Amino acid sequence: MSISRRGFLKGVTGSAVVLAAGVPSVEAKMSTELPPEAIGLLYDATLCVGCKSCMVNCKTHNSVPGGALYKEGLVSGVVDSLICTKSEKTEPMKAPSYETDTIKGNEGIWDVAQDLSGNTINVIKAYRNGTGEKKDSAVNGHAFFKQQCLHCITPACASVCPAGAFIKDPKNGVVYYEAYRCIGCRYCQIGCPFNIPRYEWNSAWPEVRKCQLCRHRLKDGKYAACAEYCPTGATIFGKVTDLREEAKKRFAMKPGTEYNFPIKTLGSKETLSRPVAAYADKVYGLTEAGGTQNLMLSGISYELLGFNKDIPNSALPDLTWAYIAKIPWVFLGVFLGGTTLHAITSRMYKKKKDEGDHHD
Ligand code: SF4
Ligand code: SF4
Ligand code: SF4
Repeated sequence: MSISRRGFLKGVTGSAVVLAAGVPSVEAKMSTELPPEAIGLLYDATLCVGCKSCMVNCKTHNSVPGGALYKEGLVSGVVDSLICTKSEKTEPMKAPSYETDTIKGNEGIWDVAQDLSGNTINVIKAYRNGTGEKKDSAVNGHAFFKQQCLHCITPACASVCPAGAFIKDPKNGVVYYEAYRCIGCRYCQIGCPFNIPRYEWNSAWPEVRKCQLCRHRLKDGKYAACAEYCPTGATIFGKVTDLREEAKKRFAMKPGTEYNFPIKTLGSKETLSRPVAAYADKVYGLTEAGGTQNLMLSGISYELLGFNKDIPNSALPDLTWAYIAKIPWVFLGVFLGGTTLHAITSRMYKKKKDEGDHHD
């Protein structure tokens, strides 16, 4: 049995301790096999020019109904908004702003996101060393890398979620989120070995945010917006089995070999011809945490890019709700500690901002 947001709110009259001890568990039986129609992305950092078109278009195409950044407005009555499930809401919904209080993402003005957050589910980051002159060089060079959900074959976020709010599609393997089930415990955040899910700390009715591989676009024959709008082919969309072969082929090629890199999708007729770069380390995502549906190639070692080198090469079967629930302090630490920390940092930020405004 899963518990819903409504169930949680009814139970909130009790304490978090009671909840931690008594919440019914969703025993997720996670497959360790790639789903039959698994889809994903291949991000080749050596082709990335850091234009951030993928970030802008990720936000644009996910701020619409069904998109990972779309948020249903609260119903008018405060009580209703707290206890209604999705299906019970009767008032028309509208998406509130997710950028700032005054600037709406849909108006075409964007923040300069430095990291993943409650309103950024795909981020391009930069590496720089010394003079930064040489692209994809660890010394005196620079490089870009893309951070988003990797759509694990055996997703720890789903296995630790006590409410069944994270779900792996059994056919295409997309790991998605159902906000109305979420109880806000944030176990998904501590469960994810790649530090991906983000919580909407500034929202009155927070949800968890992460890439859902643009699953809302699939029914219209479309695919990941970040791949569709990437001008260089650095991000391409395709079947995971094919993407794996493509990534392994590139990795094995002699650096300098001329190659037609497909743009937007694997198998696309639109290509970019250029020499293959020298790739570092390995194809990322083939084995990490049991394998992921999104893959990455880089000219710079993943460790230098700040990737966690301690991620095991197998799924994390022990990291389940049943296991984590035996440690109530984890629940309390995440649920209460996170909220308190956010309240403190928000207050500090506001104070700093007020002081800044005062000095202007
Ligand atoms: S990367 Fe993290 S959030 Fe994404 S599917 Fe894997 S465990 Fe879940
Ligand atoms: S696939 Fe994920 S990162 Fe890419 S545009 Fe869609 S939601 Fe954003
Ligand atoms: S992945 Fe493509 S769209 Fe995104 S920054 Fe790199 S080149 Fe630009």
